[in-house]
Amino acid sequence: MARPDLFTRLHDQRQLRQAQQRVRTRRRITRRDGVRLEVDGHWLTGFCSNDYLGLSQQFEVVAALQDAAAREGVGSTGSPLVCGHHALHGQLEREMADWLGYPRALLFDSGFVANLAVQQALLSEDGDVCVQDRLNHASLLDATRLAGCRLRRYPHLDSEGALRQLKNAADGAAMLATDGVFSMDGDIAPLRSLSLVARLQEALFYVDDAHGIGVVGEHGRGCVAEAGLGVDEVPLQLATLGKALGGHGAVVLGEERLIGHLAETARPYIYTTALPPAQAAASLAAVKLARRDQWRRDKLAELVATFRDGARRHGLELLPSDTPIQPLLCGDEATALALGAALEQAGYLVGTIRPPTVPDGKARLRITLSALHGADQVSALVDAVAHARDNLPPPPSRPAGP
Ligand SMILES: *Cc1c(COP(=O)(O)O)cnc(C)c1O
Repeated sequence: MARPDLFTRLHDQRQLRQAQQRVRTRRRITRRDGVRLEVDGHWLTGFCSNDYLGLSQQFEVVAALQDAAAREGVGSTGSPLVCGHHALHGQLEREMADWLGYPRALLFDSGFVANLAVQQALLSEDGDVCVQDRLNHASLLDATRLAGCRLRRYPHLDSEGALRQLKNAADGAAMLATDGVFSMDGDIAPLRSLSLVARLQEALFYVDDAHGIGVVGEHGRGCVAEAGLGVDEVPLQLATLGKALGGHGAVVLGEERLIGHLAETARPYIYTTALPPAQAAASLAAVKLARRDQWRRDKLAELVATFRDGARRHGLELLPSDTPIQPLLCGDEATALALGAALEQAGYLVGTIRPPTVPDGKARLRITLSALHGADQVSALVDAVAHARDNLPPPPSRPAGP
């Protein structure tokens, strides 16, 4: 019996991606100044970052990182349980817990890793189940595989679907997991009804609010607080530091016993180098600004309204989103790529999102807004999208879009 040749397989997969227009490449950013990006010598206006509040280059945040790095160096030198846990990490954990009204917080190297940790540490292979929204982030889905338990998915935003899946798997321990703000759609999970479902079915409710923290709700406390919920209804939630907070890393917040268990046993927490303390110092400064500067959220809300008004006027099809994530559906990959390229020609960089990141037939432009944008920039972008759409070459197989 011959073993399959791995390189032949990779070659075939690459050919298939090419035929499906799903090849992905990286762009090289050579300089960045707020929402302006220099890409291969051309300055573009970016509508693609997750820096919603504009904190990643903010003076106080950068200064906090520089000061801490000058004192403590650039690395943490160890994993948290050996010698990598620094007072700055602890300070950031307490600040996050205080902001979001949770008893305890635990700092992770990234949101992806934090999601792996939560499920692996809490769920087991013996009949447990994780029930998830069909459009949850990839890291939540991969986490279930790592935990080795059953994965059951329900239709997007469908609490009754979640209830059915939990009822069908009534034997083992259960977790109900959802994005707060959905990363590719910008809409928000029905957290109140999902929390009732979780309570009814005795499932642990876990909300990944990577895109809601800092942006949604009073003082930017995210989707859980905005829904009037707290640790009693949502015993665990994830906040990332690399999105609205402009830095890097993530924090899991929760009930004392749950966080204590994670800190002692979660392999993706224990067996990796802790974040640089200077990075924690930067996030501490960013959280203080995110809590204080309501104007950043007010400005974002105005820009979202400007974008949606303009898009409606041009007959562009919007998704039901009030957040800074404003996708425009294109349908097939070719249309999304053609629109993305036309916008780049016009001086704009937007996310061109294709399967498998989104479902088949749902390729899109993922346009994101930042408090650093001006209303005139947003209006000009909408005009450019409409112009690009009106000038799409019309191959017979391409549906009108977006
Ligand atoms: C970005 C994202 C993550 C991963 O966070 P990182 O810190 O970038 O690894 C997890 N969940 C959701 C919903 C995200 O959008």
